[in-house]
Parts: sequence; structure tokens; C-alpha cells
Amino acid sequence: MSHCGPSAEELLRGNLEGIRLRMASACERVGRKPHEVLLVAVTKSVGPQTIRALERLGVTDIGENRVQDALAKQESLGGTLGLRWHMIGHLQTNKVRRALQLFERVDSLDSLHLAEELARRAAGVGKVVPVLVECNVSGEASKFGVRPAELPALLDSLMGLAHLRPEGLMTMAPYVENPEATRPVFAALRELLVKARAHTGLPLPHLSMGMSQDFEVAIEEGATMVRIGTALFKGVI
Ligand SMILES: *Cc1c(COP(=O)(O)O)cnc(C)c1O
Repeated sequence: MSHCGPSAEELLRGNLEGIRLRMASACERVGRKPHEVLLVAVTKSVGPQTIRALERLGVTDIGENRVQDALAKQESLGGTLGLRWHMIGHLQTNKVRRALQLFERVDSLDSLHLAEELARRAAGVGKVVPVLVECNVSGEASKFGVRPAELPALLDSLMGLAHLRPEGLMTMAPYVENPEATRPVFAALRELLVKARAHTGLPLPHLSMGMSQDFEVAIEEGATMVRIGTALFKGVI
């Protein structure tokens, strides 16, 4: 058999190093420290063996957007591998019970209805679930998430749900060719977070924003979590 260049794991290692360097440079440009930004590896397009490789390479956080996919992968891996699994997609209320078994946190809480079901199920298993409220800042009809105007009322409701712990906000920016065009969306989410802190008196430490296309701009605008798939798996799959 001929030698076919670098192995998938070597490619993954190189991609990961490149992303970590770009994250660190973005931090440096705005006077932030690299440890202030968490990389969430979005593994929806890869299989369990790649998740295993990520774990070996020091990745700590995994994002999946479908309960069924996370279930299949964790079954194949024999568990979570000690990784933190984030639910980052729209969660249907009929999958909440299962989601609580698979995910440590829900970064895409997008309605009061979902919050109430999550809290009810979390109470049933004695858990307190960290959540981020997904905001539809850009107002695109195709996106999940609450409109900025609805945020204060949702936060008020969340504070009455003892089994949820609100930790901040999340957004999906519209896809655009030039990542700079996304900057106003990220800046708007940061401002919503400032208002949400004042409104609730909670620390709300997290802003989950930025994907392969635009994570550097998101970090410059204050992201504490970036969710990256495509850039991480380039050439690997
Ligand atoms: C797929 C996905 C990502 C990652 O997007 P890439 O462009 O592949 O980096 C981030 N967040 C959510 C909610 C996703 O569904």
C-alpha cells in the first residue's frame, strides 16, 4: 500500500493547533487571555473515532445539535469519555429526558416551553442544568431563538426555575462571505448580555458565539465559547 500523506489524526492535530493559534491572536488583539475562550468542537459531521481523537488531543468540550446523533456516538464510545457535551441545536420537548442523560448543558434554550420541561425533568433526576438562552439577534425567520425584546421576560421566568442555571446567551449569526459583516450581530449579543446581567443580578458569564467562518470576530467582540466544526475537520473527512 502506498503512503498517503498525513494521517487523519495528524491533520486534526494541525487544524486544532491552527485554530488555537488564531483564537489566541484574536484574544491578544483585544487584550483578552486565551484561557477566557473555550473551544467547543462541533462534531455533528464526524463519527465517534474522531471524537476519541479530539479527546486525545486535549479537547474538553463537544457540541452536538441532535439528540439522536449524540446518543449513537456516546453508545459507540461507551460513554462521554469525560468530555463535556453541549446541546447546541433546537431541542424538542419530547427529547428532553434523553437529552439530560447525554448532555451536561443546553446552550440553545430557545423558549419558555422548553425551559419548563427541562426544569421539570431536571428536578426529577436531581440535576441543575446550566443553560444559555439562544437569541435571534438578526431576526432571520429561519432561525430559532428568542427575539431581544422577549429576553427580559424569559429571564424572569428562568429565575423561578430552580433546576436551571442561566449562564448567558448564545447566537447563530447569519452566514455571510465576509466575517466582518457579522460583527454587529456579535456586538449586539454582548450588549444584550450586559442588559441581562443588570436585569437579573446574575453573573451570566458566557457568550457562545462564533463558528468556523467568524470565530475571530466573535472573540474580539467578547465570545467566551466558540463553536467550531468545519475548520476543525478540514481534510479529515
Ligand atoms: C454546525 C454548527 C456549528 C459549527 O459550524 P461550522 O461552520 O461547521 O464551524 C456551530 N453552532 C451550531 C449551532 C451548529 O449547528
